[in-house]
Amino acid sequence: MTTCPRCDGELIEIDISHNSLTFTMQSCARCDTRTWAVDGSPSQLPAVLRSLADDGIPVEATAI
Ligand SMILES: [Zn+2]
Repeated sequence: MTTCPRCDGELIEIDISHNSLTFTMQSCARCDTRTWAVDGSPSQLPAVLRSLADDGIPVEATAI
């Protein structure tokens, strides 16, 4: 189990496969901290959303 760097709570992991990339969102069940990774590399959410939106996917649909 992965734990939150901020509060040590449990992180929930969601994988989104898109354009041969894997976007991983980790969300803390306790403090609601969210982090993103693209193919295992930490990434900032705006960059992730831009990359998804570039392919015509509405940002609303991907902003979990
Ligand atoms: Zn946390």
